[in-house]
Amino acid sequence: MAEAVTGYCVKCKEKREISDPKEVAMKGKGGKERRAMTGVCPKCGTKMFRIMGAKKE
Ligand SMILES: [Zn+2]
Repeated sequence: MAEAVTGYCVKCKEKREISDPKEVAMKGKGGKERRAMTGVCPKCGTKMFRIMGAKKE
């Protein structure tokens, strides 16, 4: 099932659904990889970013 990913648009200053979200891995402190989602704001087209928390399971 598809789940909407929400992020914060700094331009709109509002939380929105990220349009065209893609999962990426980014390096955090200590070289640990963290998962994040990137996409664009459906309203203004600004790049949005959301760090995903640790997965439950
Ligand atoms: Zn926006």
